[in-house]
Amino acid sequence: MTDTLFDKIIRRELPADIVYEDDEILAFRDIHPQAPVHVLFVPKKSFATLNDCTAADAPLLGRLLLAASTWARREGFADDGYRCVINCNRGGGQTVYHLHLHLMAGKQMPERMV
Ligand code: 5GP
Repeated sequence: MTDTLFDKIIRRELPADIVYEDDEILAFRDIHPQAPVHVLFVPKKSFATLNDCTAADAPLLGRLLLAASTWARREGFADDGYRCVINCNRGGGQTVYHLHLHLMAGKQMPERMV
């Protein structure tokens, strides 16, 4: 498994603007935000891509989604709305090979992704 910059952020070897943490998940603001709110929810367990998750990881994937929705509610924009995205591999636009969920909010998201 490659040691990515997200692993270094999880180990506090690189700085990040951390907004949420529990035993399994760390969330921090994206360094190049695509929206007024752009937070990355990252499992501390390292998977390179979504393709590397199995049925055994379903509870963790569920908790990743729930961490994002709970944080959105806590921050007060859940009802207004937000977008969650997971990019997978090069064709999906993934650039950091440690599974992560993008949560974006604070502007009207385009209806179409492309
Ligand atoms: P991907 O393209 O893999 O889905 O998303 C990777 C995201 O990580 C990008 O949105 C990029 O801006 C963000 N990113 C890359 N390097 C850093 C960093 O050092 N710190 C933070 N906070 N975000 C980063």
